[in-house]
Amino acid sequence: MVFRKERSRVAGNSGAKVYWIDDDWCVDVGCEACGGYRMALQVPDELQRELAQARAQAFLSRVHERGGCLACEARQWRERGAPSDGDSHVWWDTESHEWMAWRKLPGARSGVSVPLGIRSFWASQEVRAAARALWSSDRIPLRVAAAPGDVARDSTTIYYDPGVGRWKLHAACFDCGGFELALTSFGRGAVEAACDEGLGCLDLIAREGCPNCRTVRERETARESDEPCIWFDTQMRDWVLWQPIEEFDSGITLPLGIGRFDARRALVYRAAAGLLFDSQLFLDES
Ligand SMILES: [Zn+2]
Ligand SMILES: [Zn+2]
Repeated sequence: MVFRKERSRVAGNSGAKVYWIDDDWCVDVGCEACGGYRMALQVPDELQRELAQARAQAFLSRVHERGGCLACEARQWRERGAPSDGDSHVWWDTESHEWMAWRKLPGARSGVSVPLGIRSFWASQEVRAAARALWSSDRIPLRVAAAPGDVARDSTTIYYDPGVGRWKLHAACFDCGGFELALTSFGRGAVEAACDEGLGCLDLIAREGCPNCRTVRERETARESDEPCIWFDTQMRDWVLWQPIEEFDSGITLPLGIGRFDARRALVYRAAAGLLFDSQLFLDES
């Protein structure tokens, strides 16, 4: 007779001791070398003990037992710096409770670790994308936040807005205080695409200047010239065309119906030219 091995080991092992503290469930992770540390489970609901327990169990068996102690690793990063292999790494800081990315400094043997601004241990996709953005861009660091609440005003960040189901870019600006751009990438999983889109927008901003400062300027200044003007209006979230007309001293501003800031400029100018031509016809007829 053959006895099938029951799955009792897994079931009996699910009693990770979790406790509720500082508005989160936590588990103590034991380590003989460093004394262990507290891991916040990021389950911010006191009623969700079972979810917290499952997460704790998964963390202990998949991360801690297989990968080693994160607190020991964090201490190594602080005391000894980077390992000799590779140019870039990410690591979880058990003291500040956020993801760090290490990057080799160009032309140097050493490097720096900087916080990615991601405070969820489980946001692995965001961590990968954020680190990639940091490593791929020398001029403008782009952060990736796991939630709208994690966005700092003074740091340029893409974040997922669950309310509309898509990614947004918060572009920091010293002059106007920054602004938001809706990206076209839908769904939380589209973080890589959102990152590419965000970096593309940042390139345009670096080349053309801050579109929000421009919007404020265009809306406030009294016009002296009769030259039509085209800009991306960050308040209307559309490309707009201003043109003079005889009936109004202040002229008129018309939306072009192109909601993407990073729309090809040729497309924008063609749409504007079409509108100018149409309204000219209209004005001539009336
Ligand atoms: Zn340890
Ligand atoms: Zn600005």
